[in-house]
Amino acid sequence: MTTIRQEDFIQSIQNALQYISYYHPIDFVHAMHEAYKKEQSPAARDAIAQILVNSRMCAEGKRPICQDTGIVTVFLDIGMDVSWASDMSVEDMVNEAVRRAYLDPDNPLRASIVADPAGKRSNTGDNTPAVIHMSTVAGDRVSITVAAKGGGSENKARFSILNPSDDVADWVVEQVPGMGAGWCPPGILGIGIGGTAEKAMLLAKQSLLAPVDMHELQSRGPANRAEELRLEIYARVNQLGIGAQGLGGLTTVLDVKVLDYPTHAASKPVAIVPNCAATRHIHFDLDGSGPVFPEPPSLDDWPKLHWDAGAQARRIDLDSLDSGAIRDWKPGETLLLSGHLLTGRDAVHKRIVDSLARGEALPEGLDFSNRFIYYVGPVDPIEGEAVGPAGPTTATRMDKFTDAMLDKTGLIGMIGKAERGAAAIDSIREHGAVYLIATGGAAYLVSQAVQAARVIAYPELGMEAVYEFEVRDMPVTVAVDVRGESIHQRGPQEWRQRIADIPIQTE
Ligand code: SF4
Repeated sequence: MTTIRQEDFIQSIQNALQYISYYHPIDFVHAMHEAYKKEQSPAARDAIAQILVNSRMCAEGKRPICQDTGIVTVFLDIGMDVSWASDMSVEDMVNEAVRRAYLDPDNPLRASIVADPAGKRSNTGDNTPAVIHMSTVAGDRVSITVAAKGGGSENKARFSILNPSDDVADWVVEQVPGMGAGWCPPGILGIGIGGTAEKAMLLAKQSLLAPVDMHELQSRGPANRAEELRLEIYARVNQLGIGAQGLGGLTTVLDVKVLDYPTHAASKPVAIVPNCAATRHIHFDLDGSGPVFPEPPSLDDWPKLHWDAGAQARRIDLDSLDSGAIRDWKPGETLLLSGHLLTGRDAVHKRIVDSLARGEALPEGLDFSNRFIYYVGPVDPIEGEAVGPAGPTTATRMDKFTDAMLDKTGLIGMIGKAERGAAAIDSIREHGAVYLIATGGAAYLVSQAVQAARVIAYPELGMEAVYEFEVRDMPVTVAVDVRGESIHQRGPQEWRQRIADIPIQTE
């Protein structure tokens, strides 16, 4: 019989959460580097370079890879010969570990969890509770996997119950274009097949916890149906040409994982859960000998890439812009922004648009005239930082507010990540506005451009408050111009065609 002490259990999960906030799994870094080396689309290659440079900076600086530090998901396999020296429940211990990890003053992580999800959606303040899955297994150890899953990629999960005769690969390949770029590709698709509805979802999530090993599978060949599916889906999804950040390119997925389980003769449940540029998970065992402190990886495992926005980038003074000055910006053009911009995301947009609909004035000092809004919820800063990691959030969620924002506030542009929907693009064109993107998953790199930050409205919303950022040379790409031309439509179309026309190696 092994005894697991309360403090050892809490401390180990706390350590794991801090570790995965700044260290990508090395297999993921290597796969991303391979994608970088073979990418032929300049925009996609640039985005992958930013993700890799950001990854190394985070490993060096021990700061979060992404501003979305995730919803904590913990898998516990508890040996039947384990006893606990604890006056807390296992759930309470996990949540205590989450609380301590996310409130760590040396590397505070963003509290992203809201209670009452269909109602008030109030932030719990410490990122609790975690989502916990427990099994009892043979043995005298506790086997723990800790993951921190970003909302952007979790939002793109898909599920269906197919007919038994339907083809799983066809269904997956059909789904991926509709997932857009909000899951920050290139990443990994987790596919769960079989069981029941909830079992298929869980299998998809669990499949993502295995190492990225597509290259090895390609070398050794498939040993079963699940591995055949991995190879087929990997090739067909990459042939879609979606590419990094949805900009068009050769690599949309670094790997595809499949787990299956027996199911009912009438059913074929299938789930997709994507993992993003901020893939974060770690596995370890507790054997009663004390807490686990994961071994830091060697920084030599990261490629030494140099990234800059390039000599071609146009420098923009945000403080002297008006709607005339943005008319000649072209989709795909790289800009370096300097000056002041405002931030705001889901909760702020709802409040502003509701206030405007009621004919109320915006809070004092909040004026969007001739300004840009950056869709971001930053991590709290530590000493020496103006702001913590502050990458873009998915713009598509703000689409339903865009027309009112452009029509009634004087806003001339937005900065986020991923594509805009048709109605938002129409509104952008009608108002002569623009939409710019920063690289999702490169949050620490992006935050280096922020020189100063202050909250100017809705402080009670925490990370969702409106900040004013003063930026210097913040790198962005024009995604939708004043004519409504979108790089997220043009890029994947072009690269899908190129992949079809040229015998480019996608495996
Ligand atoms: S990489 Fe993208 S999807 Fe993943 S957590 Fe960060 S912003 Fe969200």
